[in-house]
Amino acid sequence: MISGIYNYCDRWCERCSFTNRCATFALEQEQFPDPEKDMKNEVFWDKLSEVFELTMEMILEDAEDLGIDLDDIDTEEFDIARENVAELTKNHHCSKLSQEYISIITAWFDDVKDLLAHKTEALENNSRIGIEDDEAKELHDIIEIISWYKYQIHVKINRGLHGKFDDMEEDADFPKDSDGSIKVALIGTDRSIAAWGKMLSIFPEQEDEILDILVQLERLRRYTEKEFPEARDFKRAGFDE
Ligand code: SF4
Repeated sequence: MISGIYNYCDRWCERCSFTNRCATFALEQEQFPDPEKDMKNEVFWDKLSEVFELTMEMILEDAEDLGIDLDDIDTEEFDIARENVAELTKNHHCSKLSQEYISIITAWFDDVKDLLAHKTEALENNSRIGIEDDEAKELHDIIEIISWYKYQIHVKINRGLHGKFDDMEEDADFPKDSDGSIKVALIGTDRSIAAWGKMLSIFPEQEDEILDILVQLERLRRYTEKEFPEARDFKRAGFDE
């Protein structure tokens, strides 16, 4: 097992080459061999609710022993600080660019849904009659890649910005958690750029639209690298060793 490998991965276990060295994956396989089924399983939820109740009992007992009044909470100062960090994050140009990217590609997929369906159908027909079609596989793969990173880039950028703006991180040692999150976002951006490049070769008639998307991603990549100059050098356990 590689310690902490799961901290800065993209959670795409299906595509990960380190599943046999990842404790999170091993644990999930052991505890949730069929997560979908388990999620629906009443026993699963009953067990979880037992754990919740036991945990609450423990918290209440500990609080009483330590003389802590759980109702005595002064959150005003903390709330103001959190609001400022959240506001700074939301208004940062990297956050805005990544949010815009989500909107732009959602609109693009919506606009070309007929074209995509037509293309997919033609490619499927080819494979049905035994014509080996690399383009079909490629199209499937690139849509999967774009979809996987579509939201993750924004989430990881916001996490990195949040860490950067959070006062607590001023004291943090290098390597910074924010750089780790940003590195995952940058890798997702790189892969998305590559996927859109391939998309362009499959749909040359969509050149203007896809170039706009690529410009958006490239701008995002540049701004993010400028804002987090050390992120690319962050060493992720396993992946960068
Ligand atoms: S390191 Fe790989 S196997 Fe482990 S959680 Fe991340 S993507 Fe999944």
